[in-house]
Amino acid sequence: MKSKDPNYAVKVEQAIVKKYGEDTVKHPRSSWTDDKERDYVKQLKDLYSGSGVCEQEHVELNGVFISNKLLMKETKRSCPVCNTYSFKSNDDVYMSKFKCCEKCYIQWVEGREERWLKGWRPNEQ
Ligand SMILES: [Zn+2]
Repeated sequence: MKSKDPNYAVKVEQAIVKKYGEDTVKHPRSSWTDDKERDYVKQLKDLYSGSGVCEQEHVELNGVFISNKLLMKETKRSCPVCNTYSFKSNDDVYMSKFKCCEKCYIQWVEGREERWLKGWRPNEQ
């Protein structure tokens, strides 16, 4: 697994936008032929396989085809402390360093990093 880029999904989408135009990504079905859709899915697969993400299954999310694996990866972005799902790239920093989102960092960790890193968690009190 080479791809640990948190912005990977965004990059994939940008690559698709580049190739097919923005309207396509927003409304892939509206003006599409089956051939074009097949080509689109193939492009996605090429993108995924090219980066070490081998995934056959794709699901459509908000009109965009997404790898199941990518979705699974995305769900891991939930903060284990407050269970809030995070889209913010800011949270990635806190998530990788403290295993919590920025909000939890400010509430529980800031100034008390040592206690946190020793394993203290608010929900275990
Ligand atoms: Zn949190």
